[in-house]
Amino acid sequence: MRARLWNHLIVEVWMLNDVIKRAWATHDFKVKMLDWSGARGSRLAYTCRMCGRKFCLFTILNHSTWAVDGEGRALESAVSSRWLGENCPRLLNIGDDEDRKRLSKPPAQ
Ligand SMILES: [Zn+2]
Repeated sequence: MRARLWNHLIVEVWMLNDVIKRAWATHDFKVKMLDWSGARGSRLAYTCRMCGRKFCLFTILNHSTWAVDGEGRALESAVSSRWLGENCPRLLNIGDDEDRKRLSKPPAQ
């Protein structure tokens, strides 16, 4: 059961585009399932153990990965795309706290 879940997650990461995939692989993520809906699948929260950056994605809608603040609120798309394109900074970054204030309207939740 556990192994099947992990295979599923690896498949999702493979569906991200190449740039994001390379940056994404530099983080050390722990993954948590937040909730589930029939239309969108599971909503997963990826939190990096090293830099503390946090991302969410749905398992059914591809290309809907976005950055969130500590409480899971979506950040502006400019912040999302920058974080997704950057390698893991390997440590908590003071500038990230400023980014976390740039909240976006969450995608229909
Ligand atoms: Zn990281």
